[in-house]
Amino acid sequence: MFYLFKYFIQMKILLNNDDLNKALNKISNIGFVPTMGSLHKGHISLINKSLKESNKTIVSIFINPTQFNNPKDYKNYPRNLKRDISILNKMNTDFLYLPKKNDIYSSKRKPKIKLNKTDKILCAKYRKGHFEGVIDIMDRLVSAIKPKKIFMGLKDFQQLYLVKKFIQNKYSSKVIECKTIRDKNKLALSSRNLLLKRTELIIAGKIAKKVILLKKKLKNVKNIDKFLENKKKELNNMFNINIEYLELRNSFSLKKTIKVKNAKLLIAYYINKVRLIDNF
Ligand code: AMP
Repeated sequence: MFYLFKYFIQMKILLNNDDLNKALNKISNIGFVPTMGSLHKGHISLINKSLKESNKTIVSIFINPTQFNNPKDYKNYPRNLKRDISILNKMNTDFLYLPKKNDIYSSKRKPKIKLNKTDKILCAKYRKGHFEGVIDIMDRLVSAIKPKKIFMGLKDFQQLYLVKKFIQNKYSSKVIECKTIRDKNKLALSSRNLLLKRTELIIAGKIAKKVILLKKKLKNVKNIDKFLENKKKELNNMFNINIEYLELRNSFSLKKTIKVKNAKLLIAYYINKVRLIDNF
C-alpha cells in the first residue's frame, strides 16, 4: 500500500542526513520551514511564502523530544504523517526532511544552550528547558540545511524572538516572520487544537475574542498590571481555564511595558489538559 502511495509522490522525501546532503548539494536560495507536523493552514501559509520567495523549499517534520518538558505532552502530540505528505506533495513542496533522532542528535553539544536571565519569562518560566531544546534543534537543522530564509510564525512569538536572535547571530540565514492564521472564531490554528473537543474549540475562540477586546481596552487603563491580574481571574472563572500568564510586553525587547504602542498582549493557558498560547 505504501509503495502505491509513494508512486504518486513527486516531492523528494529525505529520510536521513545522507539524503539531505545529496539533495541540497549545490542548491542555493533554499527556503526552510521547520515544523512538528500535523500540518494546518498556518503551516501552509509559511510554506506558500517560502515557495514564492525561494528557489527550493524544504519542510522538516520532526517532533523534537528535547523541547517537551512533559513526557505525556510529547506522547500525546498529534501525529499525521500520511496526511502531511499528501498536503506537501499537492503544494509542490520540493523536499520533505523526515530525520530520525539519530540524524539530529549524533553529536553532543558543548557547552549547552543557556537562556539569559532576562529571557526566562513567559513560556520559558513555565516550560523549563523548552526553548533550550528549540534553539538546539534549530541550530542543528540550520547548520545541516544552510537555508537562505527560514519561515516562522508570529503565533509563537517568544520562540520567533529567541530563535531569530540566536540564528541570525550565528548564521547568514534570515528568519522571516509570518502572520498568524486564525479560524473564523479568531482562534489561532495550532496542531494542538486537534486535541480539543468541539466545545473546547468554541471556548478557545471566545477567549481569543475576549483577549482581542482586552488589548483594545488597555489604551485607557491606568494600572495595566492590576487590570490584567483581575482579567486573568475573571477569564479563569468564566471559562474554567487555567491562565499561566496574560502580560503586555514590548514587541522588540519582550520587556514588560505599560505602553500599548509596539506591544503584544501574550497569553498561555490550559483548557482541560491542553496548553494553548497566543498573542495580539
Ligand atoms: P509547529 O509545527 O507547531 O512547531 O509550528 C511550525 C511553524 O509554524 C512555527 O514557526 C509556528 O510558529 C508556525 N505556526 C504554527 N501555527 C501557526 C499559525 N496559526 N499561523 C502561522 N504560523 C503558525
